[in-house]
Amino acid sequence: MTTRRIRRIFLEAGAEDYEMTRRILARLPGVPVEVIPHRDALKARDGETPAGWIPEAKSTLLLAVQKGPFWRPCPGTKDYICCGYQVLQVGLNCPLDCSYCVLQGYLNLPAITIFVNLEDLLGELAAGLDADPLKVWRLGTGEFGDSLALDDLTGLNEVLIPFFSPQPRAVLEIKSKWHRLEPLLSLGPNPQVIFAWSLNPPELIRAEERGAASLTARLEAAGRAAAAGFRLAFHFDPLIYFPGWEDAYRRTVEQLGAAVPAAAVAWISLGGLRFLPFMRQLLQQRFPASPIAAFEMVRALDGKLRYFKDLRIEMYGRMREWLKAAVPGAFLYLCMESPRVWQAVFGCQPRGEELGRLLDARVPPFIKEGL
Ligand code: SF4
Repeated sequence: MTTRRIRRIFLEAGAEDYEMTRRILARLPGVPVEVIPHRDALKARDGETPAGWIPEAKSTLLLAVQKGPFWRPCPGTKDYICCGYQVLQVGLNCPLDCSYCVLQGYLNLPAITIFVNLEDLLGELAAGLDADPLKVWRLGTGEFGDSLALDDLTGLNEVLIPFFSPQPRAVLEIKSKWHRLEPLLSLGPNPQVIFAWSLNPPELIRAEERGAASLTARLEAAGRAAAAGFRLAFHFDPLIYFPGWEDAYRRTVEQLGAAVPAAAVAWISLGGLRFLPFMRQLLQQRFPASPIAAFEMVRALDGKLRYFKDLRIEMYGRMREWLKAAVPGAFLYLCMESPRVWQAVFGCQPRGEELGRLLDARVPPFIKEGL
């Protein structure tokens, strides 16, 4: 599916010697390939706005060598409680097209970048994990793109999943809005791998998450992953307010509870819609029919626009109630929220690195930790 969307490939000099490049080119016969000396040659020109080049970027690939580190700590947000997540930057951008995608405001290359030097990624991972064998690591590939949507081209997860099998204190989170994972199922059982889906009600998926799998398809994929022996996670992020949100999210949570075994769920996060102010205009330009940027928001301590605190607390509180009933025992947390909101929703607030430790305790062999 994603393969059929690719119309053009740029190959950065140096990337041609890698196995992943050969695999991707073989899987895209007939798609024009242009060799460029450096990715900067693609940078948006003065006067070009993201609204102009983003649509084309969604069908253009850039195969490049990651020269910086693949492994980076999630930057978190000052003044908000952080979970100590680790990001593997295996690419930048994504073939799906969510109206609220924050990457639209950060990326400046009109292409989906895939870093092809997989050997360097594995070397960096091995060295990082060996350097501190007692530390628990939660790593994910879904911060700068979708972890599954390009897998039919890259084959990345077929390499990463076995790599994580013998790592008792690390987990890989494969975070997605996509549903095709059949080639990966035979790689289970593997408790060191968590398949995670971002969820929203079907009406929001249809309106705001273009090209992404339906809610039903995501939940069916989650059920197949659990049956194959993988653990699961879910992210209601961004949680979006709209008239009728309560019914829509309650039904979505019920559908989740019916689709997957609660015991397989490692964690579930909640995060209200948020974006930097300039994104509001971009969102209105690209998606004039979308109402999500028009709702009243307030500039928060991190400079981002967020819903008013009372609304966030109400939405998180209701979600918590529904999730407790539908997915009993699942560990629930707030992504990038303030201590006051934590206190109002959970009656407590993790201090320092406490949230990270609580999530680490969900990593096999399930180290016992308390608040
Ligand atoms: S799936 Fe994620 S990375 Fe891709 S467009 Fe949607 S929000 Fe952005």
